Amino acid sequence: MSTKKLNHHNLSQPSVNANFNEVRVRFAPSPTGLMHLGNVRTAVLNYLFALKYQGTFVLRIEDTDAERNFDVGAKQILADLEWLNLKFQEGPYFQSQRANYYQTALEQLIQKKLVYRCFCSNLELERKRELQIAMHLAPRYDRTCALLTAPQIQAKLDQAEKFIWRFAVDQAAQAKFYDLAKGELEFELKHFSDFPLTRQDQSFTFIFANLVDDILMRISHVLRGDDHLTNTVSQILLYQAFEKPVPFFWHLPLICNLDGKKLSKRDFGFSLGDLQKAGFLPEAINNYLGIIGATFTEEILSLSDLSQALDFEHIHSAGQIKYDVKKLEWVNHKWINKLTPEELVPLCRPFLAAAYPDQLSPNNNTQLLKLIKLVHTDLVTLAEIVLQTKFYFCEPDYNFIRQNLAPEVKQLIQEFLLAQNLNHTTIANTINNNNLNNYTPEQLLNCLKEQANQAKIPAKIFFPSLRLILTGQPAGLHIVDLIDTLGLAETQKRLQQVIS
Ligand code: GLU
Repeated sequence: MSTKKLNHHNLSQPSVNANFNEVRVRFAPSPTGLMHLGNVRTAVLNYLFALKYQGTFVLRIEDTDAERNFDVGAKQILADLEWLNLKFQEGPYFQSQRANYYQTALEQLIQKKLVYRCFCSNLELERKRELQIAMHLAPRYDRTCALLTAPQIQAKLDQAEKFIWRFAVDQAAQAKFYDLAKGELEFELKHFSDFPLTRQDQSFTFIFANLVDDILMRISHVLRGDDHLTNTVSQILLYQAFEKPVPFFWHLPLICNLDGKKLSKRDFGFSLGDLQKAGFLPEAINNYLGIIGATFTEEILSLSDLSQALDFEHIHSAGQIKYDVKKLEWVNHKWINKLTPEELVPLCRPFLAAAYPDQLSPNNNTQLLKLIKLVHTDLVTLAEIVLQTKFYFCEPDYNFIRQNLAPEVKQLIQEFLLAQNLNHTTIANTINNNNLNNYTPEQLLNCLKEQANQAKIPAKIFFPSLRLILTGQPAGLHIVDLIDTLGLAETQKRLQQVIS
């Protein structure tokens, strides 16, 4: 696999002072819930970016918000990345174990007098905010505490009043950075608030811990969701405060459903777990998330193909990306078709074991392989194996079939079975012994066909009826394949059910 050197000329603007010798990207999820498609896309693109430019892909778990952390969150993220085969070269780092780094960084800002203590309570802040909104003012912190004198601060500290640290924004200045899709962006800071770096329990905010880590981990390109754009503006000020080079950014468009609304829990496929349960392959999910948002001549691409095909130097800026399950299904179908039936056996087994726990033999793969060979080219998801092979595991509803079967077909079956018993007493015995090896499936079908011809039953009635008897469905697989898979004894048993 050939890798590419990053063309800084195209990716950067001369005015941006970033000067990184190597590409280092990170995926920095917060373990506050299960991974959803937006997170997964961010992970995929970071991985591909590192792969393309021989960079390092770092994993950092942003678990500073103890109240919102979800117990199994981090473990699940690690398992999900492994399942997706998105290997990181560095990490996982856990922010909950890095408070000393954030403390050191905060002390630097205190020394530089770029931060101040804010003693306002949440209630007070909320009241001020409501007032500002009512007065049609941009809601932002009114800087009450920036004006406190040293003795006033000391008095509050002596009373053990709780406080947070805020960064003092120079509201006359601008923040500038380069976004790979949007180009150079410049924001006037006049409406920006003095943002908090710590919480009242002295833990560190997302904006601060995230930024300190990006500096310490020498992150050269920050690829993350568009919802972080305003955080980026605040963080640019922190890069400047620490006199560190500003990385390049790529704010990834949010993934929306087909109605254009932000993808939510109510949309199928929102969480990676939904897709795993429905039998989507990790290769297909990576592939789909890698191609949405751009145009490719060949759309079925592995991670390494994707890293070649993606052109990060000419990214089009899109407001949102539509999540189209049908397209994902198409990609999944293509990936399933790339696998051999042998490779599909272990992938399909859990779905069948859950659906037919009593019927599926735990160790025998031969029968499973035979079933998979029969249906694998039709599978859109792995879960579909359950319905596609139901005929094998579950007998159809013969009450229904007896009531709905064309009478001439019923009569034909009756005559066929009778003829078998009368003319071939030895075969009748073998039927009872469940051993009909004297027939091939073709021969059995030919016998039945011959009889249908004689009885002048049209093919369009006869074949669907026969399928209905064997599977409960009038359409589907070739009848010879059905007989072969069910075995002659089971076939005979099902035919008998029609007339009993
Ligand atoms: N923890 C943040 C999130 O999950 C990370 C944002 C970033 O990548 O900087 O949204």
